[in-house]
Amino acid sequence: MGRIVFDSVQKVYGSKTVAVDNFELEVADGEFLTLVGPSGSGKSTTLRMLAGLEEITAGEISIDDEVVNFLPPRDRDIAMVFQNYALYPHLSVRENLAFGLKRSTTLDKAEINRRVEETADLLGIPELLDNKPRQLSGGQKQRVATGRAIVREPEVFLFDEPLSNLDAKLRKHMRTELNRIQQELGTTTIYVTHDQEEAMTMSDRIAILNHGELQQVGSPREVYNDPTNLFVAQFIGSPS
Ligand code: ADP
Ligand code: MG
Repeated sequence: MGRIVFDSVQKVYGSKTVAVDNFELEVADGEFLTLVGPSGSGKSTTLRMLAGLEEITAGEISIDDEVVNFLPPRDRDIAMVFQNYALYPHLSVRENLAFGLKRSTTLDKAEINRRVEETADLLGIPELLDNKPRQLSGGQKQRVATGRAIVREPEVFLFDEPLSNLDAKLRKHMRTELNRIQQELGTTTIYVTHDQEEAMTMSDRIAILNHGELQQVGSPREVYNDPTNLFVAQFIGSPS
């Protein structure tokens, strides 16, 4: 489960900044969908509305046919990974991974430990559990941030430019890693990036945004071969 529907969703900041307009999208259970577009096109706003971190101006968002517009973030079965990782500096990796579990569930200590260790194995960081964030490389911090989302076993993962602070080589490696993990777990994922190569290589489908408006949704191949307009063709780099 984890089917997401955006129905005519709009976000206006203040009185006139239309960040997202008439946004219509269905994301299937278990799908890896990438929202791609230039800076300021409304990608983060879209994710934040789904996560409940931003109020919706108009329209409806539902998960598994339940309208979530007015649900507080903690009642949405969603975990989000941010660009800046947002780790707690004074907590160990183990405590960082366990933090969300302790706060939002009634799991006992043994179950929490089991999940934390399973997650660390999945991400290839079991030897780092007792380290503090400052002792980690950028790539390792990224893994811990991803682990914090995975450990909660949510219906939906949201990633907001999770690899943009990594160097090119590590970024490429982490793309493969994130794809492997998502496939293993089968969790519905919306992945945000401004990097068209990331979008083209990682996704079941891509959704292209410009100025808050959805331009096209389709498989990477469909969009590349048959762009609906000049913006999409240029952004994706389709042959002209
Ligand atoms: P992206 O993630 O694609 O870069 P954003 O969703 O962050 O785009 O921003 C979309 C538009 O909304 C931009 O014009 C941005 O300046 C504006 N915006 C984003 N957040 C806020 C905010 N908290 N208050 C006012 N305007 C905002
Ligand atoms: Mg953004």
